[in-house]
Amino acid sequence: MELIFLGTASCYPTADRSVSCTLLRFEDGRIWMFDCGEGSQVQLQKSSAKPGRIEKIFITHLHGDHLFGLPGLLCTLSNNMSESKSDILLEIFGPHGLRRYVRECLSLSRSMLNFSYVVHELIIAQHQYPDDWQDWKVDSDDDGRLHPQEIGGRSIVCDDNGVWEVNSDIVVHEATLEEALRDKALENGHSTPAMAAQFAKDIGASVLVLYHYSQRYRQTAHDAEGDVDSVTKLLAEAEAALSDCDSCSVVASGDLMEIPVKRRE
Ligand SMILES: [Zn+2]
Repeated sequence: MELIFLGTASCYPTADRSVSCTLLRFEDGRIWMFDCGEGSQVQLQKSSAKPGRIEKIFITHLHGDHLFGLPGLLCTLSNNMSESKSDILLEIFGPHGLRRYVRECLSLSRSMLNFSYVVHELIIAQHQYPDDWQDWKVDSDDDGRLHPQEIGGRSIVCDDNGVWEVNSDIVVHEATLEEALRDKALENGHSTPAMAAQFAKDIGASVLVLYHYSQRYRQTAHDAEGDVDSVTKLLAEAEAALSDCDSCSVVASGDLMEIPVKRRE
């Protein structure tokens, strides 16, 4: 199986780089999609992946650069079906609030789908919600009405510490800004390559894949000119942070890059 990176930028898409969207394609062609930023369906068409094989979509968080492409993708998947197939169920997983987002985008745009869908919401620990959470209306079940193609989803609750068990050989982690800009990264809820490396070590992953780069970094050192930096700088920082781990390696992903993933023996 392999990881296919459709978008590796943070914040907004540019002519050179699209925003977050990563595919995990299994040996039989089935696809799980992680995030669906604006323009992901265009990248999908440029890739070797078959859109019709997407069976699950996971949204990591509700920032626009991770989900503004989702309603459009759902409509395109539906348009590509020759007839209504109510036996097909697309499963979508994501944070509390995602169910309302999908339902209202589809309902307000009067979008009907040729397949059924369900949104399962991950419920975090109480102390993890932002202070102003109550100021934002996130629940959409007030009147109990579902979108015509929607099936009621589950709420998946984390443990008391606010985590779900993690057991990974390969970790795809954002590395938005370099270590010298750590304060700025933290201010915006982002990570540096060293932070990504530490997380990979903490969970015992042997391969770290970086993505979600600030637009200040061009894709290769060759592209960077004058004061402009490149992703090579972020890669070097992660490599340095992993230098004490013999079994660890790090890769800097780029748009449309495919990275093979080995199954455990
Ligand atoms: Zn982002």
